[in-house]
Parts: sequence; structure tokens; C-alpha cells
Amino acid sequence: MAIVEAVESTGHRRRLRARSPATLEPIGEFDCATPEDVRAAVERARKAQHGWAELSFDERGNLLRRLLKQMVERQDEIVDAVVKETGKARSEAISMEVFSPCDALSYYAKRAEGFLRPEKRRLHGIMSFTKKLRIVYKPLGVVGLITPWNGPVVLSVTPLAQALMAGNAVVHKPSEVTPFSAMLVKQMTEDAGFPPDLYQVLQGDGETGAALVQSGVDKISFTGSVATGRRVAVACAERLIPFTLELGGKDAMIVCKDADLDRAAQGAVIGSCMNTGHYCCGTERIYVVDEVYDAFVEKVVQGASELRQGDTGEFDVGAVFWDKQLEIIEDHMEDARAKGATVRVGGRRNPDLKGLYYEPTVVTNVTHDMELMRKETFGPIVSIMKVADEEEALRLANDSEYGLNGNVWTRDSERGVELASRMETGGACVNDMAITYGLPEAPFGGVKSSGLGQVNGPTGLRGYCHAMPISTDRRGKGKIQGGYPYTEKANQGMQKFIRFLWGGSIGRWLS
Ligand code: NAD
Repeated sequence: MAIVEAVESTGHRRRLRARSPATLEPIGEFDCATPEDVRAAVERARKAQHGWAELSFDERGNLLRRLLKQMVERQDEIVDAVVKETGKARSEAISMEVFSPCDALSYYAKRAEGFLRPEKRRLHGIMSFTKKLRIVYKPLGVVGLITPWNGPVVLSVTPLAQALMAGNAVVHKPSEVTPFSAMLVKQMTEDAGFPPDLYQVLQGDGETGAALVQSGVDKISFTGSVATGRRVAVACAERLIPFTLELGGKDAMIVCKDADLDRAAQGAVIGSCMNTGHYCCGTERIYVVDEVYDAFVEKVVQGASELRQGDTGEFDVGAVFWDKQLEIIEDHMEDARAKGATVRVGGRRNPDLKGLYYEPTVVTNVTHDMELMRKETFGPIVSIMKVADEEEALRLANDSEYGLNGNVWTRDSERGVELASRMETGGACVNDMAITYGLPEAPFGGVKSSGLGQVNGPTGLRGYCHAMPISTDRRGKGKIQGGYPYTEKANQGMQKFIRFLWGGSIGRWLS
């Protein structure tokens, strides 16, 4: 049964119905915005942006703080909305969809000014005697925000906070799988007193997303799959607008022989199963050195066997959010089985639950011939492979088209950092996993097929701006140096000056 399906529409817009993956019951219907709707929204946003950009950072920050207050006071409402349309565990909704976006709002409200205030930049060498330079961070205008279904609030509010603090308006196309969390975020911005049209939400599927890219926005901030990211990149290239792509991953975990095995085993189970495995920085491949392999696997098997899966009350692992993802998980598991993998725990849909539930699973004897180790599975699967040593682990970790995040487990944290820095990934953790996106000081973004550009922190905020250099001549009067008329005498003078500067040691002193 499809979680999102088309239903008959009485108007000219396509209409979709969403179901809860936990109960499979319909939870609501919504209209898809047409290309005309999208263009009109962008026009309205453009008007709203002018007034917004004129506000001080304090004034913008105060509005974000009012949204933060809404989120803090309406935590249960947010959790209920997210759980209803995703079936994720309440604890995950609280930590990922309330704590993280609250932290982002508070961080950017307070620090954006420090990252974006006009900056005097000292010039080097001879230029410093004649010119001054200032960098002014100007908002881009209207940002098109396109988001996926695995973190419907956090992946909306975090870029929203950055784009707004940088002085932009935002038109947001959330995933068709999770439309109602986005509606709630929109409602909270209204209740917080956001100016009309500064932040607009347009519901729809890929067609609406594609229309947003074409609509005249000044930047696209995209989070989603590699395949869609490529399409978005091509469309942005045609329009010559900047974009960031936060795409899929296949994060590797390296367990060194001196790792704290209890902690590493916990990290493996949480890293692979949290958010039902629907986490871009989820652990998807685990490489364990021979000496500690058996002990590690035993601990992981025990940890995974104890996980509680359910649709009500207290549980650890929730539903698979989308039937299309369930098909991918099942395909990868079938392929792994056919190629000789051993299923130690789980490995099937949960027969006791009505909704879309895949049991927390542990698989060993996996190889790089299997889809489970090559493509993003995005399910609650712990896939473990034995390696001879850490160098082999690193070689296999890097043998991937993805490069989002990775993690290394060892008691020697310096060695951990050294190994982590050799991972071909956008970021990495030592004795930890999945946290990078939640640390705003960390520039976040994948390499290889996992993305283009970085978000969060000063880097992310500046990505929502044009950094405009304004140079001023120190004298500002008299004859312009090197100007007309060009003469042989002036040329010779210039060449002599070049020799004086860089023909000896003076240039090195000056530069
Ligand atoms: P998706 O690419 O299918 O959809 C993402 C969004 O793009 C949705 O809103 C969708 O409607 C829209 N879309 C679809 N076609 C479009 C088009 N042609 N033009 C513009 N927009 C279009 O991804 P998904 O299945 O929703 O999300 C899961 C993926 O997101 C996973 O691969 C996951 O790893 C990735 N992800 C990455 C990060 C990160 O920060 N790197 C974070 C979360 C999720």
C-alpha cells in the first residue's frame, strides 16, 4: 500500500493523500502547488525580502527567538505531528526534531551578526599602502529550500534559520511523504509573528520541486537523494544560480583492535538503527579488525536483539517511513542473502506489526559485491565485515561512491583522528557517530556523490550571501596610478619596481 498516492482532485491542482506508515491509515490530503503557484510565491517572497533585509541582526534574531519559543512550548505537538507521519520513535522525534532545530535557532539568532557583519580585510604587500578592503555580506534574495522526509523538522528549520538570518526570504518545498510537519513549522512561524510571505511552504512532489528550481529563486538549498540532487544541479546550472546539495551517504565505521568494544558495539547499533536507519550519516558499513571481530559481533548481536520495535508505547525502532524505502531495504537484503551473507538478527518485515516495519537486523559475511555494502540502504541494518587490519578497513571504507561522514573507534584518540582524516568523506567522528550535522561549528557536506557545498556555521551562513568586496583607494584624489597615457617610460618604471619588489628579499618581507 502506497504511503503517498494521487487522489481525484476537484480543482486544477494534483491532489495527494498521505498515510501513516505505522497504521497505514490515511492521515490527510494536500494539493500540489503548480508552476504558477510557485512563481507567484517567489514573487511575493521577493517583496517580503526587501523589508526583511533592512532589519538589523537583532531584529531578525528576535523573530527567530519567537519561533524558538513556539517550538519549546509546542514540543508535544511537533513530536505528535512527526510521529504520526513517520512512525519514528518519540525519543528520536524529541532529540532530532525538537532539540536540534531549537539549538540551530538559538545558535544562528545569536551568532549570525558575528559571522556576517561587514569585515575589514587587511591587504598584503604593496597594495596595503594604497588600498583598503571591506567585505560586505549581502543576502542573495529568495532561497528555494527543498527537503526530504527523514528529518522533516530539523532539515527544514536548520537551513531556514541560516537563510533568514542572512537576510533572505524562503520558499520551501517539503517532501510529499512528510507534508504535515512542514505545515506545523509554517503555522509556528505565523504564530511567532513572521512577516507575511517571508517564509512560504508549497506542498507537492518532484514536479513542484522542479518548478521551484525554475521559478526565479536566487539559490537552491537541496537535501535529498543523489539521483534527484544531480537533476537539481543540472537545472541550477542552466539557470546559473548557486546551490548546495546535501545528498545520500554510505557511512563506514572502523573498529580498531584497541577499541572500547562495549561502546563501539552500542555505537554500531545506534548508528545503524537510529531513525529506523533513515539517517544520511547513518552507519551502513562496519569494518572490524580480526582480533576483536568475534567479541564485537557478539556484543552487537546482543544489543540489536534487545531492541524493541513497536507502534505504540515505549519502543526503540519505529516504522520505515516510506514504502519505496522498504522496497530498497528488502532488495538489498535479498541480494546480500543470495550472495552468501549471514543474517544474525532480524532480516525480515516484522510479522507482528501492521504497518511498515523492518526488524532491526545484523548481517555478517558481507562483501563489497553486495548492494548492502555499495548502495545507500537507509534501513535499520547493521552490516559487519571482518578485515585484517586498520589499513584494510580504511581502503574498504574509501572504496565507495559516497563520502558523507564516517567514524573510527579506538582508545587512542590521536590515532583515531589520524585514521579519520584519511577517510574520503566530508566529515568524521572518533568514538562517536552521526553527530556532525548537529554541531553547527562543523562545516557539513559530503564529497564524491554525497554532495556539493557545505552548510551550517559561518560557512553555511555565508553561503546564503554574496560576499561583496568593496575596495577603497586610500588617497582617493589626484592622478590614477598606472592610468593613461601609457608610455614607455612608465613601463620601464614599472618593470624596475617589479625587480625591486620580487627580484630580491624585499618582496618576501612585504608579502
Ligand atoms: P528525494 O531526492 O527523493 O527527494 C528530496 C526532495 O526533492 C523531496 O522534497 C522531493 O519531492 C524533491 N524532488 C524530487 N524530484 C525533484 C526534482 N526533479 N527537482 C526538485 N525537487 C525534487 O530524497 P528523499 O527520498 O526525500 O530523501 C532521502 C535522501 O536524502 C537519502 O538519500 C538521504 O541520505 C538524503 N539526505 C541527505 C542529508 C544530508 O544532509 N546529506 C540529510 C538527510 C537526507
